Amino acid sequence: MAHPAANLFLDRLSELPHFENIQEVQSLVDQHGVSVSLVQAIVDRRFAPKETVCRLWADSLERAYVDPFASVITDEAISRFPIEIAKRANAIALYVIDGVLTVAMSTPEDSDLLARLGEIARMPISPVFALPKDIEDAIVIQYASDHRLERSLRELEKSSLFADPQLAHEKIAQLAETDELVSVVDEILHFALRERATDIHIEPQDTLSRIRLRVDGKLREVLTYGRTLHKTLVSRLKILANLNGTEPRFPQEGQFSVSVGNASAYFNLVTLPTPHGEKLVATAIPGGQHRPMLTLDKMGIAQTIIGSLKALLHAPTGLFCFTGPSGSGKSTTWYATLHELNKSDLSIVTIEEPIELSMEGVTQLEVNRSIDLKPTNLLRSALRQDPDVTAISELRDVETAKVAVDAATTGHRIVTTFSANNALQAVQRLRALLGDTGSLDAALTGIFAQSLVGKICEHCKESYVPSPQILGRHFQDYEMANPQFYRGLGCPECRGTGYRGQIALHELLPITEEVRTLVREDRSAGEIARAASKVGYRPMRHDGLKKVLLGLTTIEEIERNTSFEWDA
Ligand SMILES: [Zn+2]
Repeated sequence: MAHPAANLFLDRLSELPHFENIQEVQSLVDQHGVSVSLVQAIVDRRFAPKETVCRLWADSLERAYVDPFASVITDEAISRFPIEIAKRANAIALYVIDGVLTVAMSTPEDSDLLARLGEIARMPISPVFALPKDIEDAIVIQYASDHRLERSLRELEKSSLFADPQLAHEKIAQLAETDELVSVVDEILHFALRERATDIHIEPQDTLSRIRLRVDGKLREVLTYGRTLHKTLVSRLKILANLNGTEPRFPQEGQFSVSVGNASAYFNLVTLPTPHGEKLVATAIPGGQHRPMLTLDKMGIAQTIIGSLKALLHAPTGLFCFTGPSGSGKSTTWYATLHELNKSDLSIVTIEEPIELSMEGVTQLEVNRSIDLKPTNLLRSALRQDPDVTAISELRDVETAKVAVDAATTGHRIVTTFSANNALQAVQRLRALLGDTGSLDAALTGIFAQSLVGKICEHCKESYVPSPQILGRHFQDYEMANPQFYRGLGCPECRGTGYRGQIALHELLPITEEVRTLVREDRSAGEIARAASKVGYRPMRHDGLKKVLLGLTTIEEIERNTSFEWDA
């Protein structure tokens, strides 16, 4: 059903700068008419950026466009329609404001459907446009709830199939393929995705097994289930990841994906033997279809830092390092950087272990230790091709570090990540790793460090006046009249924690001639910091305090996560 104004869409589309697919679009129009399925087809074929196409379509319908994966979706809104209605109407409720329910729909112009949804929800509806496939995918994830999952697990436990704890391996493998079990495992994974979990822990204990999720860096127990189910659940996940199901005694590692409507989410699975049986940890691999590549400009990096960072990254030779503790998102920043460099006419080769995100136009090499594709070998062969940028996903061993430093001092540009808590510690650790050999000081151009802290929940945020003691401790060098701090009171959106999501704190250590000399002479972190502060270096804590004043995080998070060893 075409909206009267829908032809506007085709006109605007063909007027887009550099739009080259008018012919192809015309033949799609013959197939689909001017309808939402035409919009989906244009997006699927990547004739223009998704957001642009969707906005043009929404404009022609005089509605707003919303990506359900980027929008707030509340439990209250989800509870307004049963899943069957949401699927049939291809609509997902997003949130309620002032008694009006905002609903993302593929056909927001369908007034009959709107009226029916309004009756079901028993409140007025404000429709916005979203792509049909995105709505389908969002329904799969948003309707996964802990209650629903618990109900499914309880039903399985009651089933006589799983009653015998001494089942033979073949029997367990068979059970692992039954529809009931497959769907429970899918529910666990969908629920984890919905909760934005980065890890899923499935752990056998004395009498029960439990499932815990890591959300925003903190582990939280979701539910427990009877031990009789455990082996079959483990078996199902091991089958998914192609692991040896008959071997519970040794740790194993593999990858698997789970379909989420039309898209897939990827996980890394590690199995660990424990006295009670096998423990599983599934870690979400970022970069699934619904996680667009972040750009440096969208990472919340302070203006004062990002300008210098870009300048350092464009230096034609030398070693640039991204650092941070594990789980600080440094590899996301590393990818964003390559994405940025990839925009210009540079040849880029990466050495990764494993490849987490594929990048068009970049030659990505993957380490495989079992067939002797070690990082050093790959790095040497990459350098032989003389790319403009050689990127190493992580410097771990001495050998690779030496080759990288040598290359950086002989005309190559190397961009890598390295594990350390902050930039100054990275200098010390790199120096320790290389020992007396290698000329780290000559190679380094800069170190960018980051660390993640909790973001205050927007739904229960309040401001308060900090005590004079706290101000004295952190802001003695600053003149401030009546500063305000913020905190989260705790609400259902943040499960009472006061935090929802995380933000990164950053610092940039540019290696100037003076710093270079200090590194060569093995001088202290304090001396290096003082020299670097002349060109704008400020420790991460400084960035943290700014973000406290901006209301993004709390002073407690800064105290917990940044060190006070050296005062700027
Ligand atoms: Zn809250």
